[in-house]
Parts: sequence; structure tokens; C-alpha cells
Amino acid sequence: MSVKKRAIWVFGDYRNYFQNRVTLQLLSRARELAVKIDAEVCAVVFGYWTDEWVDDALSHNPTFSGVVGEYIAHGADKVYLTDHPRLAAYSTETYALLMERLARREMPEIILVGATTFGREFASRVAKRLGTGLSADCIGLDINGEGLLVQMAPSFGGNLVAEIVTPERRPQMATVRPGTFAEIPHDYIRKSEVVQVPLPEDLPEDRVRLIRSERCPQRGLKIEDAKVVVCGGRGMGSKKKFAKLFELAELLNGEVGATRPVVYADWADHDALVGQAGKHIKPQILFSFGISGAIQHTAACNDAKFIIAVNKNPNAAMMKKADVAIVADASQFCTALIQELKRCIR
Ligand SMILES: Cc1cc2nc3c(=O)[nH]c(=O)nc-3n(C[C@H](O)[C@H](O)[C@H](O)COP(=O)(O)OP(=O)(O)OC[C@H]3O[C@@H](n4cnc5c(N)ncnc54)[C@H](O)[C@@H]3O)c2cc1C
Repeated sequence: MSVKKRAIWVFGDYRNYFQNRVTLQLLSRARELAVKIDAEVCAVVFGYWTDEWVDDALSHNPTFSGVVGEYIAHGADKVYLTDHPRLAAYSTETYALLMERLARREMPEIILVGATTFGREFASRVAKRLGTGLSADCIGLDINGEGLLVQMAPSFGGNLVAEIVTPERRPQMATVRPGTFAEIPHDYIRKSEVVQVPLPEDLPEDRVRLIRSERCPQRGLKIEDAKVVVCGGRGMGSKKKFAKLFELAELLNGEVGATRPVVYADWADHDALVGQAGKHIKPQILFSFGISGAIQHTAACNDAKFIIAVNKNPNAAMMKKADVAIVADASQFCTALIQELKRCIR
């Protein structure tokens, strides 16, 4: 009797183009983990026309194009695919139910999901349905001496990183922050098995109906990938003054980040939130305007290579952390810097 190979599953979160690299990043890490427990890496894709979703120019896999081809090219040994018109729009209930049924049938060791807005909602429901644990928002994954998945998750307001294992329940589940791992280069020659999973006939009706959806316009680079990030905090003073940071970021070919009070005040979108509850950034240069430097924010900036902070308080934690600390009014300094840069460009 052949023994079934252990499996690490990565959920294919491709719906939001701006977030979709996280699946590729997880496939890459899953490959490294798979070596340690002798497992295969599988992507799980639910949707409609999933083999045509990505622009053709991105997909040269001779067998499968679209996201399926992308996941194969980026490391999936196998893809479980349910492609059906009913799955064209994401439905938490339906997607979680499909994942539960598939997982009960195939019994993967590990399920990894990107900690996107979508992934966070989805994974917690799947874990509940499967009666297993879930470590949310992990910033590291490893395999310990007992072959268990070590799920590294920030805790106590980001002051500690907890190493969590799931010794008894299966699968072991984690959501992982985008930008935590690097994706492996694509290999469009790679072949892999695609398992078509039919939509169950007894699927209950969705209780939620999607009426309309609209894609957010893309401003530029994703903040997680930007080489320059111009981050602003409450010390910028107002929404109007904060808007200057967008002009500065454009001049520097960078992206704008924000602290939580700024996002709550609607000076910036939630997408710009940097910190424990937002994005992890790793720019070459980080500008920090009017930011106190609370741990929940700075924990996500530790990989910045060079930090320039502007604050009227020289003792602010962010000023201590900075390579260059400028004591000034944040908004006025930003205006002066914009003028100076424009003068240099002219
Ligand atoms: C569970 C939890 C999760 C959290 N997650 C996040 C997160 O993901 N990201 C995040 O950012 N926060 C997060 N927070 C909130 C965090 O603790 C801080 O409250 C927040 O980062 C502070 O934002 P800030 O620096 O903009 O504001 P403040 O702390 O109010 O600091 C404003 C700074 O601006 C300076 N300043 C004021 N006026 C001027 C001026 N005219 N010119 C120059 N400087 C000036 C002040 O000296 C001060 O240093 C979280 C908190 C909790 C409890």
C-alpha cells in the first residue's frame, strides 16, 4: 500500500492584484519547510477562469496559464483547482466550506494563508471549521526538531515574538504577513500536477450576494516593496498638511506610509498603515514625519536601512531610532524639502 506524501498547502489568494505576491512568497517558504518534513507543496485555487486571470504576458507555462501557471512556476508541486462560475466572486462561507471539505479529504499537514484582509477572514473560519488552531499575522515560520511548524507571531503589542506550535490538532495553520518572505524566481518550464476538484452538488446557497465590486486604482508600487517610504504621523497636523507627503513621495519615487491615528483620522488609506496592524516595510530610506515611534509602529520598520526622522520633540522614540534626527515642524520641513527637491530637479 502506498503511503500518502505529507503536504503543505498554500491558499491561492489572487483576487487583489496588489496583495497577490504573498501567495508566491508563501510558496517559496513552503518549499524550504517541505524539505525538512519531506512534504509536497500544493496550491489551492478556488475561482472562475483562474487559468486566464493573469495577463498572458506573465504566463508561459505550456500547460496552464493564469494563476495556476504562476503558482506552478513559483514552486507548487500540485495545484488543487475548483473552477466554477459560482466561485467568480469571493464568498467567505462558500470558500471556507470548500477548503474544509478538501482538507478533511486530503489531510494536509500545514495550511498557510496570506494575512491579507481576505486571507485573515478566510483562514480563521477554516480553522474553526476544522477544529484546529491558527496563528495570525506570523512574521516567521520554521520546522522544529519534532517536525512541527513553528509559527512566529508578534504578541504583547509587538514587544515579543511568540513561537507557537500545534502539537495535536491538524492541519497546523497560520496566516503570514505579506513581505515576510522573498518569492523564488519563476520557472515557467516547471511541470506539476493539477487536480480538478468539482464543485460539490450539495453546496448551500450563499447568504451574501455581491451586488457590485470596484478595483481600487493603483497609485504606484506597493509600500512593502518601495525603496523609499515617506511615513507620516499625527505630528503632520492635518489631512491637508499630510497630503504634502504624497508630493514628496512622488518626487522621491517612493510610497507614503502612515501611523494608526492618521489612518483612523482618514488622512490616509488603511493600505498605507505601517505597523503591527498594517504593513511591514523594508525601504532603503525611510522618512518619518511627526511620528512618536510607538513599538506597534516601529516593529514594522526595523528592516529600513536608513531612517530620517523629523519631530519637534528630540526625545521621541523615533528620533532615537533614526540615523538622522531633525528637530523641526514636520509639515514645514516637508514643504521646504519639496521646494529644495524641485529646485534641484529644475
Ligand atoms: C494593539 C495595537 C496595535 C497597534 N498597531 C499599530 C500599527 O500597526 N501602526 C501604528 O502606527 N500604530 C499602531 N498602534 C498605535 C500606536 O501604539 C501609536 O499610538 C501610534 O503609532 C502613534 O502614532 P503617531 O506617532 O502618529 O502619533 P503620536 O504618538 O501622537 O505622536 C505624534 C508625534 O508627532 C510629534 N509632533 C507633534 N506635532 C509636531 C509637529 N508640528 N512637528 C513635528 N512633530 C510633531 C510629537 O512629538 C509626537 O512624537 C497600535 C496600538 C495598539 C494598542
